[in-house]
Amino acid sequence: MSDRPRTYKTEGVILRRRNVGEADSIFTVYSDREGKFDAVARGVRKAKSHMRGHLEPLTRSKLMVARGRSLDVFTQAETVTGYMAIRDDLERGAAAMYCAELVDRFTIEHADHPGLYGLLLEILDALEAGAAQQVVRSFELQLLSVMGYELQLDACTLCGGPLVAVETLLSPSAGGLVCANCRGSAGGGRMLSVRALKVLRYARAVDMAAFASVRIDADLGFELQRAMGEVIRYLLDHEVLSSRYVDQVSRLVRRAVPSAETPLERSTAPDERDHVQ
Ligand SMILES: [Zn+2]
Repeated sequence: MSDRPRTYKTEGVILRRRNVGEADSIFTVYSDREGKFDAVARGVRKAKSHMRGHLEPLTRSKLMVARGRSLDVFTQAETVTGYMAIRDDLERGAAAMYCAELVDRFTIEHADHPGLYGLLLEILDALEAGAAQQVVRSFELQLLSVMGYELQLDACTLCGGPLVAVETLLSPSAGGLVCANCRGSAGGGRMLSVRALKVLRYARAVDMAAFASVRIDADLGFELQRAMGEVIRYLLDHEVLSSRYVDQVSRLVRRAVPSAETPLERSTAPDERDHVQ
């Protein structure tokens, strides 16, 4: 324990806040160096607090944090980007909060996920610059890849055989598209239209800015949203909270984190979490 510095500096995006006591708040941050962590800001709800405004959900801030026995404490916070255009727009604000919630739910504290912080900044920057809602599908696909759940969109997930350009099953439990021959053993899913398949493949092949400029009508947008939502719900219910959690905890334990109570407490009660306020 003695080799861990008592304070650390990092930069991160505030994912959510929950208020405690009369004037304190606990903020969940996804950061470039520390991954996800919780820390408390003392007195931040008082009008004179110098950190007030720098710790709002969906703010990118430079942070100084002191390690505490049970909970770390913010000692300084300075906004890098306030994402004001996102805040002023209901739809883009909701999309950004959804992406922040996905980052929160797919991760546990202090676990390292290379590429995830950059991906989070990429979607926030895209939404801030006015990208259409559909850019969230690109974020979802890339998030799955970063987290080790890359969807198989180019061949049958079960047999590896080629896919023809017809309506095709997207199976969350199989982890991608399933050919007609394998459909019976795929464990359910949703039939995707040919144009939805093409859009998903394109979304994964290009960056967010390029994907944001694709014209997608409302029906197709809804189809894609529902299909990706089902995959993500499946993974969050079946994987992240069970097998991956166990893997990640065992990695944490091997790293000999002095106080394992925080990640354990957090992850045993996932449904009680507050959301971005
Ligand atoms: Zn097959």
